[in-house]
Amino acid sequence: MNGKKVPMRMCAICRSLKPKRELIRLVRTADGQVFMDETGKKPGRGLYVCPEKKCVDEALKGSRLDKTIGRAVDQDVKQQLKNAVFESKDEGLQRPNKGEAR
Ligand SMILES: [Zn+2]
Repeated sequence: MNGKKVPMRMCAICRSLKPKRELIRLVRTADGQVFMDETGKKPGRGLYVCPEKKCVDEALKGSRLDKTIGRAVDQDVKQQLKNAVFESKDEGLQRPNKGEAR
């Protein structure tokens, strides 16, 4: 038998190795654009981040992502990245309207 190898990629932030499919892929195209690649197939330089709040927070904090990629990443893309992580978790993590107001 020869089992299929799972392609592993490293998170650019925490540097842990994970199966490619479990990571969020960001792509930097030849003309310098950066965007989130949901299909994992877009051409360009790939960069991977864990779909975890911890890593995404870290990536977006202090332009770490910009530095890692080597250029300023669009706010849109950052927002997309955030959404991808925050929406995949169930509620309970962030409940802005909870608790007493006074
Ligand atoms: Zn990570």
